[in-house]
Amino acid sequence: MNLSSPRPIHPPASAPDWERVRSDFPLLMREVNGKPLVYFDNANTAQKPLSVIGAVDEFYRRYNANVSRAVHALGSEATEAYEGARSKLARFLNVRIDELVLCSGTTFAINLVAYSWALPRLKTGDVILVSRMEHHANIVPWQLIAQRTGASIRVAEISPDGSLDLDALHTAMTPEVKLLAVTHVSNVLGTINPVREICREARKRGIVTVVDGSQAAPHMPVDVAAIGCDFYAITGHKMCGPTGTGALWARRELLQEMPPFLGGGEMIKEVSFEGTVFNDGPQKFEAGTPNIAGFVGLGVAVDYLETLGRAHIDAREQELLAHFTEELQRIEGVRIFGTAPRKAAVVSFQIEGAHAHDLATLLDLQGVAVRSGQHCAHPLLQYFGVAATCRASLAFYNTHEEIEAFMAALKKVRTLLG
Ligand code: PLP
Repeated sequence: MNLSSPRPIHPPASAPDWERVRSDFPLLMREVNGKPLVYFDNANTAQKPLSVIGAVDEFYRRYNANVSRAVHALGSEATEAYEGARSKLARFLNVRIDELVLCSGTTFAINLVAYSWALPRLKTGDVILVSRMEHHANIVPWQLIAQRTGASIRVAEISPDGSLDLDALHTAMTPEVKLLAVTHVSNVLGTINPVREICREARKRGIVTVVDGSQAAPHMPVDVAAIGCDFYAITGHKMCGPTGTGALWARRELLQEMPPFLGGGEMIKEVSFEGTVFNDGPQKFEAGTPNIAGFVGLGVAVDYLETLGRAHIDAREQELLAHFTEELQRIEGVRIFGTAPRKAAVVSFQIEGAHAHDLATLLDLQGVAVRSGQHCAHPLLQYFGVAATCRASLAFYNTHEEIEAFMAALKKVRTLLG
C-alpha cells in the first residue's frame, strides 16, 4: 500500500464567492410546496455538489468493477479510485493511510471499536465513560458491550448552557474507567467540545478515547493527530459525500491488536480449513464488497471541501450562526437549547405553546426543512426535560436571505399556532 498522502490542496487565501458555491448544489434550486427550498437540516445529512454527483455517475458509466480482486483495467481503475479516497480522507484528517478503516459511517465505526476493541478487553468492574450529549450511535454500542462484559456506563454531565462540565469529567476519570466516548460537536446543541484537552487528560490516566467526529469534520479544520485521541469516527454523507460511506481512524498499536469484526472476502491473505491469515492494517476490517461508488464520491467531496478551505467554511458558518441566533432570539416565546461559547451552526429551539413536530410540519409547508424530535439523543433531551425540539442546522451554502425567509416563515407559523 502506498502510504504517502496525495498532494495537499492549498485552500484559497480569500473566502470563496458563496453565491457561486451555492450554484454547485442543484438540489438547492428546487421548490418545495411551491416555495423556494430552505434546507436547514444539514446536521442530518448534507447536500451534494455536482462534482460528487458526477463522480458517482462516471464510476458507473465508465469503470464500475470490484476492488482489490480483478487484474483487468476496470478493476485497477476502480481500486485506484477507491484507495485514492482513503488517501484523501487521510490527508483531510491528518492521519496515516494504514490507520484508516473505510466503513459505512460513524455508526459502523463505533460498533467496530465496541466489538473489536472493547468486547475482548472489558470486564466486570470496568467503566465506560460517556458524555450526556452523545448521539445514540455513541451510547447504545457501549450499553451492549457493558451488558456482555459486566462493565458499567458512567455519564459525564453537562452544564445548563450545553457545554461539558470539564471538572466533573476529569473527576469521573477514575482508575476503573477504561474507555471514554465523547463527541467532537453535539448534533443537537452545536457545542464544540475541547477534545484535545479531554483526550490529554484521558491519556494521562491510561483511558482509551473514542471521538465522534460526525458533526465536526464537515464544518471545521480537524487535525486528528493533534487531538491525540485513540479512535476518531466520521460519516461521509454529512460531508457532502454519498450515504453509506465513512471511516474509522484508529491508533496503529490498537488496530494491530484488534481481531476482525466481520469475516469474508477482501479481509484475508490466505484461507484454508486449517486456518485463515488475515490482511494487515485497515483491510482486515473491510470484509466484503464496499460502497465503491460512494467512496469515489466521498474522495471528490473531500477535495471539494478542501478547495473551498475548511477555515473559510468555518468562518462562513459562524457568520450564518450569529445572524440566525440573533434573529431567532427576537421571536417571542423562543427557547434555545445550547448556548455554549464555542458552537457549530446547529440551533435547537422550542416556541412556547407549539409542539416541535407541528412547527416542523408547518415550516415544511413553506418550503423550510428542519428536523424535529429527539435527534437520536434521548438522554440529552431528558436532561433539558423536553420531549422534542426543532433543530435548524446550517451549512456554508446557506444564505442570509434564507435566514430571513426562515424567520418570516417561523413568525407566520407562530401566528397560526396561536
Ligand atoms: N454521531 C453524531 C454526532 C451524528 O450526528 C450522527 C448522525 O446524525 C451519527 C453519529 C450517526 O451517523 P451515521 O448515521 O451516518 O452512522
